[in-house]
Amino acid sequence: MRAAVIEEHGEPLTIQDVPYPEPQPDQVVIETEACGVCRSDWHAWQGDWEWFGIQTGPGQILGHEPAGIVADVGADVEQFSEGDRVTAPFHLGDGSCQYCQRGHVNICETSMPLGFLDAAPGAFAEAFPVREADFNCVTLPDAVDFTEMAGLGCRFMTAYHALTDRADLRPGDAVAIHGCGGVGLSAVHIADALGAEPIAVDVQDRKLDRARDLGAAATINAAEADNVPGEVHAVTDGGADVAIDALGIPETCRNAVGSLGKQGTHVQVGLTTDEEAGEISLPVDTMTLQEIDFHGSYGMPPVRYDELFRLIDAGTLDPSQIVGETLALEDVPATLSSMGEYETVGIPVIDEF
Ligand SMILES: [Zn+2]
Ligand SMILES: [Zn+2]
Repeated sequence: MRAAVIEEHGEPLTIQDVPYPEPQPDQVVIETEACGVCRSDWHAWQGDWEWFGIQTGPGQILGHEPAGIVADVGADVEQFSEGDRVTAPFHLGDGSCQYCQRGHVNICETSMPLGFLDAAPGAFAEAFPVREADFNCVTLPDAVDFTEMAGLGCRFMTAYHALTDRADLRPGDAVAIHGCGGVGLSAVHIADALGAEPIAVDVQDRKLDRARDLGAAATINAAEADNVPGEVHAVTDGGADVAIDALGIPETCRNAVGSLGKQGTHVQVGLTTDEEAGEISLPVDTMTLQEIDFHGSYGMPPVRYDELFRLIDAGTLDPSQIVGETLALEDVPATLSSMGEYETVGIPVIDEF
């Protein structure tokens, strides 16, 4: 089968002929119908993230935002059978640790990121295996199509978990969203749909235009503003209730924290680059005196998909609005390269394999 493979960090991916996956007893093999292309793919391709134990090597098939059809089922799998329309989150749990047992599969003790390590080849391929399928796979409702799901699978659900579970967003809250890539634009749409007031911050006007279309109450171009936190304070009543750093660089992280009012909640969603290697300094005294909370947020537990699907079915949320363009597998190398310059708007989705 065909797959897009890393040959060398930073060098264009190559389309190669690789063996079709055989399912282990706990696995299903999914025939890929759609898969999003994400900044995380770009990070892995650059060779980032060694500092937290993920080093994606040459030979890796990337791709962690899939939707598809179960094509083969391992002997121990009980919940899924051939022909099921499914997705899987990018964080594959083991199903047995204390976090998985409590439903927090996204923070599993032995979490395996799909498409970043040898043991879990990704979905930039005609098919891919999913471990512990009964725990990790999620059935797609008929109302959600594959392309929509691929847009939802990583960034949309990450934004949903960040806003609803980690920040406990309330209608009327002012939410400052720093960075309007796929996850930031998803957060704008979700915050607006849930009755909050999103304020979008980015350095590119075309991303801010998109944010306004998706419901941003105000936008701030950080490249033109002298004092981004000050501008957020100016358009909110004493600062934002919730701030999201959807990028993961010092400017966006500190601007997000600075844009909060007292007792505000920061949610860190973006992971850092090799410049920071996981370290960003913060004004901790101010945060202490103002009782500001700092939360991390990683993916979303599969049990939470039900709620998302209900909101999509009701028309409250529409993940298709975040899909930027659809591509063929051959287009992935060029799309990934263009991400270094932040050229993509919305979520590019491969729908031709
Ligand atoms: Zn992703
Ligand atoms: Zn686990």
